[in-house]
This record gives sequence, structure tokens and C-alpha cells, in this order.
Amino acid sequence: MSTMHIEEKIAWAKNQFLRWRPLLFSDGELMRLLKAFGKAKDASHKVMVQAGVVDICRRCEMEEGGSCCGAGIEGHYDEWLLLINLMLGVDLPKRRWREDSCFFLSNKGCLLSARHTICINYLCRKITEQIDAKSIALLREREGRELELLFLLNERLKMVVKARGSGDRRNTKENRSVL
Ligand code: SF4
Ligand code: SF4
Repeated sequence: MSTMHIEEKIAWAKNQFLRWRPLLFSDGELMRLLKAFGKAKDASHKVMVQAGVVDICRRCEMEEGGSCCGAGIEGHYDEWLLLINLMLGVDLPKRRWREDSCFFLSNKGCLLSARHTICINYLCRKITEQIDAKSIALLREREGRELELLFLLNERLKMVVKARGSGDRRNTKENRSVL
């Protein structure tokens, strides 16, 4: 995990997005991966809705006062993943909505389109005990595709930006980490 604060990572991502926007959106392979990732993410979400996961989570948050999106989880996010979110049109928050919540949680749920592996993969016992095994297996399959495309997208994005040089970025070991 990077030692940078989430606000610093967001600032870096916004800066790079402003700087390299035309370059990023003119890279054919990056655009292909971005589109494919969007479709894969939607396919995962569709299975989540059909299987009833979305309803279980909504009840959990609204009626049972529980949410797994706690403060500190945002620390797993690196700048590249935030940059991908900006490319997907996400408006990254300026401040935390609730003291005890993840920086990216809002009153409408998670604000991100491209989420970290730990967020994509997480299914609590409430879910695994209520949803049938076949639906869980289908969801895992869709999430696998989502994660695979996110990995490829991340790699391509780094390649495109680094090929042009991002001199104002710290070249730390953490910053070279991937998902
Ligand atoms: S994953 Fe589990 S703990 Fe998290 S919101 Fe859904 S039901 Fe609640
Ligand atoms: S799903 Fe979104 S809000 Fe929840 S922990 Fe992950 S990034 Fe934070």
C-alpha cells in the first residue's frame, strides 16, 4: 500500500488526468479496454441484482445499520486506480461523507466505478448464507472477468503515461504496485 494520504492520491490522479487527457483518450487499446471493462462491470452488477445481493446489502445498510465499507479501506487504492475512475467519469469526493466510513462511500453507496479487488471480491456471510451456490459461482465468474480487464487496463494506462513521462510523480516502490 502507498504511504500517501488518499487526498494526495486523488490530487495526483486529477493532475495527471488534466495533463494527459487527450493522450489517454486517443490511445486505441486503452479505449478498447476501458469499454470492455465497463461492460464487464455492468455484467457483474446485473448478476448481483438478479441474485439478490444488492437487496441484501441495501437492507443491511438501511435497516440493520451495518456496512462493510469502513474507514481505512480507501488506503488500498492507488493513484492509477483513481485515474481509471476519472477516465470512467467518476467525480472523486473531496471529503469523507461519514467519519467511520470509507472515503468513497456516499449516501447512495460506493462512488467508484473501478473498485479494488478486495471490494469486488468481498461477500459477507449474510450473503453467502442467503444466496444459492449457483448464483455465487456465476457472480464469481463475472467478477473474474471484471478483475482481469481491470488489471489489463491498469497496465496499459501505466504504460501510456510512463512512456510520455510523469516527472512530478514519486517513483516509490508502493507507487509501482498494481491491484
Ligand atoms: S456485504 Fe454484507 S456487511 Fe456488507 S453491506 Fe452487504 S450485507 Fe452488509
Ligand atoms: S466498495 Fe466503495 S465505498 Fe465500499 S469500501 Fe470499497 S471503495 Fe469504499
